[in-house]
Amino acid sequence: MIRFDNIGKWFGPLHVLADVSGDVAKGETVVLLGPSGSGKSTLIRCVTRLEPIQQGRILVNDVDIASGGVDINQLRQRIGFVFQAYNLFPHLSALGNVTIGLERLKGLPRNEARERGLHELGRVGLADKADAVPARLSGGQRQRVAIARALAMDPEIMLFDEPTSALDPEMVSEVLQVMRSLAQAGMTMMVVTHEMGFARQVADQVWFMEGGKIAERGTPAEIFTAAESPRLRQFLTLGR
Ligand code: ATP
Ligand code: MG
Repeated sequence: MIRFDNIGKWFGPLHVLADVSGDVAKGETVVLLGPSGSGKSTLIRCVTRLEPIQQGRILVNDVDIASGGVDINQLRQRIGFVFQAYNLFPHLSALGNVTIGLERLKGLPRNEARERGLHELGRVGLADKADAVPARLSGGQRQRVAIARALAMDPEIMLFDEPTSALDPEMVSEVLQVMRSLAQAGMTMMVVTHEMGFARQVADQVWFMEGGKIAERGTPAEIFTAAESPRLRQFLTLGR
């Protein structure tokens, strides 16, 4: 589903991704761990072509995303992306935030978009908040609206970059629960997170990044109980 084929990326002289190869199979959840600056965000941003790569290839469903035939807007509709900051439109209701893409990008008539939007808000437990503007929602609720907005586009892949890092602790679990049920429903996901409990319980594979490389990878059982590198052990003990 997603294949990183020996990719390399530089920011000017800075070599930020070095010979990264790996597969995320359909329906799999890969959790990316690693210290600050190790390249986790950059790696997932490359999948949506928010960042270009200078070496190697990224294949989504066997198609090189850099090839001429790939429509960037279609690619981004097929790949939902949820960031640390939710970037909701402040003047639109929760429902409006979900339906705007359905109307503008997918061209759905307003009533169909509304129906679909309400369904997506229901999936993230926010059916009763459809009319609330973001300022009236908690951080966890806003982040769930952001997830509903991405899901409304019917993506094949969901990418999450520290979706709970900006949240108060009591709101983290409601967002993780939504992500967990998505994973269980067979969504293909790449998740950058520091939530080790989530990684243990939900990940099919864990990739530990360091210095722009995948320094270690394995199942959660392998990574959490039998980590090989001293650096990974230290990371798991101390966090970051
Ligand atoms: P964190 O855990 O802090 O979010 P990360 O693992 O996500 O870190 P990246 O954001 O991918 O790390 O950054 C990898 C490297 O690339 C870092 O050295 C960073 O400073 C550098 N970098 C990231 N974005 C840019 C940019 N737009 N221009 C130049 N350098 C960048
Ligand atoms: Mg990051």
